[in-house]
Amino acid sequence: MSLIASAKRGIITDEMKSVASQEGVTEEFIRMGIAGGHIVIPVSPYRTVNFCGIGEGLRTKVNASIGTSTDIVDIEMEVEKARQAERAGADTLMELSTGGDLVEIRRRVIAATSLSVGSVPLYQAFIEAARKDGAVVHMREDDLFRITAEQARAGTNFMAIHTGINYETLKRLKNQGRHGGLVSRGGAFMTAWMLHNEKENPLYTEFDYLLEIMKEHEVTLSMGNGMRAGAVHDATDRAQVQELLINAELADKAHAAGVQTMVEGPGHIPIDEIEANVILQKRVTNRKPFYMLGPLVTDIAPGYDDRVAAIGAALSSSYGADFICYVTPSEHLALPTAQEVFEGVISSRIAAHVGDMVKLRKRDADLEMGHARRDLDWERQFAVAINPERARAIRKERMPADTDTCTMCGDYCALKIVNRYFKF
Ligand code: SF4
Repeated sequence: MSLIASAKRGIITDEMKSVASQEGVTEEFIRMGIAGGHIVIPVSPYRTVNFCGIGEGLRTKVNASIGTSTDIVDIEMEVEKARQAERAGADTLMELSTGGDLVEIRRRVIAATSLSVGSVPLYQAFIEAARKDGAVVHMREDDLFRITAEQARAGTNFMAIHTGINYETLKRLKNQGRHGGLVSRGGAFMTAWMLHNEKENPLYTEFDYLLEIMKEHEVTLSMGNGMRAGAVHDATDRAQVQELLINAELADKAHAAGVQTMVEGPGHIPIDEIEANVILQKRVTNRKPFYMLGPLVTDIAPGYDDRVAAIGAALSSSYGADFICYVTPSEHLALPTAQEVFEGVISSRIAAHVGDMVKLRKRDADLEMGHARRDLDWERQFAVAINPERARAIRKERMPADTDTCTMCGDYCALKIVNRYFKF
């Protein structure tokens, strides 16, 4: 029985118990969230994972996307990225390879992690068509659904599916135009296929068949955001909103069919439009879990886009986004290294925590850090730090003569001076 079916019948499963205990909420809260479509737990009948609850009332989760490209194909590096993402505290991984042996890379990555793994099956379908028949536009619809089922059987827990790109969405895109073009690979593949073949998106027309596959293999559906803005000047435009409306309707249908569903969101958004995007998305999707991609709040800081996205992600989370996709420092420049994956996850975890301080009033760790700093208790500070290793290494590298303090103020440590006179 699917998680939604269990939840609707009032049955509390092991997955629900596990997430309730991690989050410090009641098992009934999780059951009701799944039954109502406000919480998902990506599972798979084909592999055991660390259960991760995503949705309303839960800690904001962080996804790390990894994968090869046509230029850089190194399976060992991708496996190392998976390890670094997990070490940095990512909650999920997405395996998005587009170069090399796509099936083998996914198999190795899935074997290397205990996290839930997501995929975008249409990448493989389009790339296989390009390799076999010379262009992505020769993708055959049957292959798309076959590959979706194969990836599910390989242990994929959730899949980004580009259902919301249809003729209506493309009409809006064409009429409005774009400053930053179309940056979603899935969106670009599907758009090219539809225009070349003069056919509607099969993921839209055959949505019921897609749901049968998702249901049979218990895959969580993540409604893709192929029309996301790739420049802040395109944020919240008609094409993006049109796709969201279609995805929202299909997400209701998916939930009613017993398929756990979340809905992805943009992209590049200036700060003053983030709140509106979160409210709009939550409202029209009937509070489905919101998977926010970034968002990047400015376009002019290549090399630092993990920080740019962290600003957007912190705000998104504070307004109610449930799941954020990390961005690495090499975004828009190159395929990330394993070290950059680690840094991207840390930046996103900081953002998620900052958002949760508002959304969930989760401030216990900050209180503990305040007390540990006041008391010059360095071990307690490291214990509560998001990245203890880095904090410890920086301090060790520049140790002061007086080990109570640090080399920032040394003998004039404000905390030490005042602690002589006050017992806070
Ligand atoms: S030396 Fe300065 S920066 Fe370092 S712990 Fe004391 S007050 Fe803080």
